Amino acid sequence: MRPTYLTINTSLVRENLRKIKDSLPEWSTSTAVIKANGYGHGSVMMGRIAVEEGYESLAVAIPEESVPLRNAGIMVPIYLLGLTRPQSFELVADTNSIPAVCESTDLDALDKVADNHDMIIRVAVAVDTGMHRIGIKPEDAVEFIKRVESYENLEVDGFFSHMSNADAADQTHAHSQAMKFHRMVDEIKAFRPDADYRFSLANSAGLLSVKDSLFTDARPGIIQYGIMPSLDVPNRLGLKPVLSFHSEVVHVQHVPAGEGIGYGSTYVTPEPMTIATIPVGYADGYPRSLSNRGTVLIHGTRCPVVGRICMDQFMVAVPDTITVKPGDKVVLLGSQGHESISALEIAALASTIPYEIFCGFSERVPRQYI
Ligand code: PLP
Repeated sequence: MRPTYLTINTSLVRENLRKIKDSLPEWSTSTAVIKANGYGHGSVMMGRIAVEEGYESLAVAIPEESVPLRNAGIMVPIYLLGLTRPQSFELVADTNSIPAVCESTDLDALDKVADNHDMIIRVAVAVDTGMHRIGIKPEDAVEFIKRVESYENLEVDGFFSHMSNADAADQTHAHSQAMKFHRMVDEIKAFRPDADYRFSLANSAGLLSVKDSLFTDARPGIIQYGIMPSLDVPNRLGLKPVLSFHSEVVHVQHVPAGEGIGYGSTYVTPEPMTIATIPVGYADGYPRSLSNRGTVLIHGTRCPVVGRICMDQFMVAVPDTITVKPGDKVVLLGSQGHESISALEIAALASTIPYEIFCGFSERVPRQYI
């Protein structure tokens, strides 16, 4: 196996999932959001664990992401959070997924596919409560129910909306979204008092910090992996990061003063230095923006990245306090000795968010589940 790999601690994933579920009222269901290969953690493993922990359904973005889950024998409802083109409706039917729909969805085509498959396709109506990404207007919900009900092979499963600012310190926008959703739910209930629709608004930030955003179903994503959506969301459930990134030193050299390191010689050694090479690059998802900015841990000591991150390798400066040789363990994200590097630290240095760091870990980095 490659010496470069991601470790995912499945006991911590379970612990996080349990803490999230336990924090919900008993009437709420939970949908584990495992799109983008479970935020890079592996969708099949994350999906399996979520189902074992009592999560009633899963959510991905596109129907292609349902395939590995169904092939792995996962049979719970799978919601598609993005809009699906008619060309992919067959895959929706084949995987028995629940597509998001709104006024731009070709319901005629969807109904036809359902008919051909001799099945009812349940749909989740996307509602735009203020993000302006996808969805019907909340005030059009009742009309939209009537429209879906005019098709023989389609059925409304429920309604969902996405919160765009729930992770902000100022909750004005989050509450406004919750209020709009609330009003819509009331109208729908007045129209169809006996319907058992699923109403889903709260994402991770909503669950942790916007009280009125929980309706009948919670939809946590990033917090399953122990990462807060932003610095403004307190980790009130004590969730723990589950992923770490490992490699090992492949080469060590002593470089005199005045030498340029890596492409473009963007780092010039100010004095004679020990330089270690790590066989990881931006093709693995270690961001190039960490060039001359990131650090890694070797022997529990922070070693700064020097020069540009290459596609498959990068170099670090080895402090005089440690001796490094090829084969020594390197931690790029996670803990070693008393030191640790968080996803948030990496994301901040790379001017992005932990979500993007996780989704960026490429397929060629093996995932090891412990
Ligand atoms: N619901 C929808 C529609 C999403 O797009 C996402 C993620 O982007 C989530 C839920 C989960 O969000 P989070 O990971 O912030 O909990």
